This record gives sequence, structure tokens and C-alpha cells, in this order.
Amino acid sequence: MQKNNSADCIIFDEQAEYCHYVASINRGQDLRYYLETLGCQMNEADSEQISGMLMQMGYSQTQDIMKADIIVFNTCCVRENAEFKLYGHIGELKTIKQANKDLIIVICGCMMQQTHVVEKIKKSYKFVDIVFGTHNRHELPRLLYKRISEKKKIYEVWENSKGIAENVPIERKSRITAFVPITYGCDNFCSYCIVPYVRGREKSRDPKMIKKDIMKLASEGIKEITLLGQNVNSYSYEMDFSELLHYISDIPYIDRIRFMTSHPKDLSDNLIKAMKDIPKMCSHIHLPLQSGSTNVLKQMNRKYSKDDYLVLINKIKQSIEDITISTDIIVGFPGETEEEFEETLDVYRKAGFDFAYTFIYSKRNGTPAANRQDQISDDIKNKRFAKLITLVNEMTLKSNINDESKIMQVLVEGRSRTNDTMMTGRTRGNKIVNFKCEADCTGSLIDVKIIKGHTWHLEGEMI
Ligand code: SF4
Repeated sequence: MQKNNSADCIIFDEQAEYCHYVASINRGQDLRYYLETLGCQMNEADSEQISGMLMQMGYSQTQDIMKADIIVFNTCCVRENAEFKLYGHIGELKTIKQANKDLIIVICGCMMQQTHVVEKIKKSYKFVDIVFGTHNRHELPRLLYKRISEKKKIYEVWENSKGIAENVPIERKSRITAFVPITYGCDNFCSYCIVPYVRGREKSRDPKMIKKDIMKLASEGIKEITLLGQNVNSYSYEMDFSELLHYISDIPYIDRIRFMTSHPKDLSDNLIKAMKDIPKMCSHIHLPLQSGSTNVLKQMNRKYSKDDYLVLINKIKQSIEDITISTDIIVGFPGETEEEFEETLDVYRKAGFDFAYTFIYSKRNGTPAANRQDQISDDIKNKRFAKLITLVNEMTLKSNINDESKIMQVLVEGRSRTNDTMMTGRTRGNKIVNFKCEADCTGSLIDVKIIKGHTWHLEGEMI
């Protein structure tokens, strides 16, 4: 019997009232917001809600931080780099605020779920006006109203989630593809990962709400959706994940369905079958391996062995023709020996990954792995990382060359950023394809013949 991690639903109505109050105060003024998002797709999805709420409160977006009346930094603490980025920017914010006393500075997101970070902001960055966390993101309208009307600094972070906020306005970045969160938080407690501590225990959204969102997206012209969660495979709310895929698969005008991320320990035969049976399912799966050593995986608390992983990969490849498989790899986990690192390279070759996201292990305060005494030196981590990157690039190129002469369906996302005679889009396997096209065919599904495979993209021609 699968566990049920269904979430209570927080309806946005009360916050909608605050949106209305702030909008009334702002009426007649040309106010702008600048929003910077650090981190993963989940944060991107959260930022789309933040944008949606700000627009309802009368702000329009600017890409020029100097012209903003409100600046929002949506932070991430999953990787050290994202943390460095916030602290790199925060000094600059002080200078901007000195030049514009009415400016409102908001810092939110995963980093704010850590008490020591909020304390540091209170003490050292007094020019920050509002701080909130991941669990009370939907309360931005009330917090902003309070800031404007009471003129006090606001630090409000909920320790735990009280449910999932529904009907929050969303301003999408793309008019073609969209993220749809289906779960929030994570129960897995991988020993290197901060997510369960800052995003809380796993909660699944009501499938009816998910379907309603997707129907709205379809009516707005969205063609492809990506169902999001830290571990979508453990979705559970009156139905499991494979059933959810069937439940949403008949929504008209949605041509493609993707999902991420999948934890290998929870990837069921039913899911593989659903991917095979539902025509809209894209032939791509992102399945984080993290390490190819069973010993390291055990210390990471991943709950699968190297052999389990390889068996799973074979099963997926045998069941779904032409599937693209990508992965995440961490090098330099505490105690990782040279032989264990070599095992990762060996599994990488055996699995035949098409592409990978690679990371150097960095300590996350509060996680078990951060307290270990056997941390790997930067020098060794960097050498291993360079070796891994060489293999990843070699195999990605091989996979892309293997696509030459194939005809692939591409969902066109727009003009190429580097060459405006080329259009760019993605295959069902999630590979980027650039191809020549005079007319702007953004949003169309087009058959393209692959003429050359490069390391970072495929080059094609329309047929
Ligand atoms: S599955 Fe592991 S790595 Fe992924 S979010 Fe959960 S704890 Fe972090």
C-alpha cells in the first residue's frame, strides 16, 4: 500500500484581498519589480508565482535593477554557488537603496528557512525590508501591505508547511512550455542534501488542482508541461504518479508531458508502462545516479546499489524505444576513494547516459555529510571533476552524433540567441536542436532532420 502524502489546500482568497489593497495604494504609479531567481526549476516555478502576485499588486517587471521599486531575490541553498551569488549581490543592493530610499528589498526562498541566515540578515543587512521563506511564499501580498502601511521591517518565516497554496496568480516566463509543481518537499534525507530541511516533508497536490492548472495552460496556448517535484515518483494523493499521468493525459492541446525529478528507488514498473503507453509522454527520463559506488550510495542514503541502478536503466531502455536518459553526478563526497570514483565513471559508461548535470560536493550545514571528518580536498575534487567532465562530454557528443540522419519532432521555443536566422527548440528526448528557418515558427511542432550532432546541441534542417 503506497503512503499517502496528500497536502492540505491553502486557498489564496485572503491574500487576494491584500493584492487588492496594495494595488489600490499603487494605482496611478508606474511601479516596477526586479526578480532574480537562484537555483533549480522548483525555484523558477516559485518565482513565477511571486511575479504573478506582484503583477496583481500593480507592478510590472523590469530587467534593469536600477529602475526597480521593489527588488526580490529568491534564494537557493542546495548548492554553495547559489549562496555565494546572494552574498555577492547583497552589497550592491545597499548602494541601490542609498540612492532610492523608497526601494523595497525582499529576500525569500530556501536560504531564508535557515535561522542563522535570517539572523545574519537582521544583523548585517539592515536595509533588507522583507524576509519570508518557502512555506509562506503565498503571503507576499500581506507582508508587502504590512511593510507599506506600517513601515516596519518584516521577517516572517514559517518553520513548517501548513499546506499547499492553490489559486496563486502565476506569470509564466514562457508561452510555450510550463512547469507544474505536483509535490513539494522531500522525505528522503540524502545525507548531502539540505532540501528536506528547507522545503519540508513531502506533500502532494490535489490531482484535481493539477488538472485544473494544466487545462488553463492549454487554454493559454501552452504545448508542453513539465510536472515538477523533488521526487515525482512518490506522488500520492488518491492516486500514484503513474495514475496521475493517465489522469492528465487526455487534456486537449497539450502535446507533450515531461516530469522531473525521479528517484531511482521509487521508479515503478507502472511508471515505465505509462511512459510507454501514453503517446504524449516525452521519451526522456532524468534519473540521478549521484555515485556509481554502492558503498558511497549507502553513505549518501540513496537506498539503491550500483547494480539496482544498472538493472533499472536496462529495463527502461528495453521498454521505451529511443529513450534519452540524463543523470546527476556528485564527485568528492566525503570519504570517496579513487576506486569508488572510478566506479562512477564505469557505471556512467555502462549506463550510456545521453547527458548529465555534474557537481562537486559542497558541505551543506545541517546535513550529516557536512559533519564528516573525511572531507576530500579541493585539489582531488577538482581533478576528479575534470575527468568526469571529459567523459560526460565525450559521451554526450557520441549520443548526439548517433542522432545524425534521424528525423525528430521539435517543439520550437524561439530564435536562437546566437544566430537570428536559426530557430531553436527541443526534441521529445529533451535535446536542443537549432535549424534554419526564415519564418518565425515559435510554438510549432516541426519535423527536423538532424544533420550534425555537436556536444551541446543538434543541428538540423526542416523537412
Ligand atoms: S531525493 Fe535526496 S537529493 Fe533529492 S531532494 Fe530529496 S533529499 Fe535531496
